[in-house]
Amino acid sequence: MFDKELKELEAISQAVGNFPDMVQGGGGNTSVKLDGELMAVKASGFKLSQINSVNGFVAVNYRNIKNYYENVDLALDTDFEKESVEFVKKNIVELEGIKSLRPSVEAGFHSIMKKYVIHTHPVYANILCCSHEGRELMERIFAKKPYECIWIPYINPGFCLTLKIKDEIDRCMKEKGKFPEVIFLENHGLVVTCDEFEKSMSLHGEVNDLIIAHLGIKDKFPAIELEKKNETLCISRNSYLSEFFRGRNIGPEFFDEIALYPDQLVYLNGNISINGSGKKLNINTKTGEITYETGFAEALTMEETLMGYVYVVAQIEKNKLHIKTMTPKEADFIKNWESESYRKSLVKELTR
Ligand SMILES: [Zn+2]
Repeated sequence: MFDKELKELEAISQAVGNFPDMVQGGGGNTSVKLDGELMAVKASGFKLSQINSVNGFVAVNYRNIKNYYENVDLALDTDFEKESVEFVKKNIVELEGIKSLRPSVEAGFHSIMKKYVIHTHPVYANILCCSHEGRELMERIFAKKPYECIWIPYINPGFCLTLKIKDEIDRCMKEKGKFPEVIFLENHGLVVTCDEFEKSMSLHGEVNDLIIAHLGIKDKFPAIELEKKNETLCISRNSYLSEFFRGRNIGPEFFDEIALYPDQLVYLNGNISINGSGKKLNINTKTGEITYETGFAEALTMEETLMGYVYVVAQIEKNKLHIKTMTPKEADFIKNWESESYRKSLVKELTR
């Protein structure tokens, strides 16, 4: 059942999942609506590149989830964050021959969108999403396009984000008479959604290409080069990274002060030692050497996340834009978010 749609889910996931400039580590997620009720969405803890037509995703009743968001009564004294996660869990539908997994924490906003949804954390879109000038740049770059783009100011992921996206979609429909197919999430990433399979992938590529062209970006995103020394030690062979850190007068607070987006906080912050050792990620600012005291899979997730982060910071500086960071309060929400720590623990499981 749903063979065609599940093959399509595999295709859209592979189209972006194998490129660390589009998603880093376990970031991003994809979905395809299978019929009027069911949606296959990436499972939590999986990488997009691990999705195929039989694994890495879970089916949920998206009609019920959409309905939940349309009718939720905010006047009630409820822990909506918890309730909405429980609601999605209750709406998992087992498909024959498919292992039952936990849906992505972002399944909520997939439910309210078009048939195909590609959500990524592209370094190019994130140059806009993480700078004060980003929204204006988006409006300029996409002004004459036949599709609508909207901008979602930063808000806690999960329940609040889904509700905010829903409000902004409704507003776009009312004002422009069109469903927005491109959605920029401030301090987070990009969503592309439409009802056509091929177009979902080409539109995702086009959005990033237009940003690259507008900013005149010449330097390609550096290839990830990670050397496994043994079971608990890996060394970065990435000259872009070591050049960025060599001679930079920073301490570990650098990463807290420049909190760009949730995945950085989840995978990097708290695990970094500058000119010391014993943490999962050790940066030597004298030599530029970067070592990971952990298994290869987790080191790879961290290296990709670090690479994405450094690239976005460097490009924002290079383009003379101004970095827009998350507030300490927003960062605290992520650090204490149950679903995120679940995601973290799953990544750990994958490494062993
Ligand atoms: Zn995301």
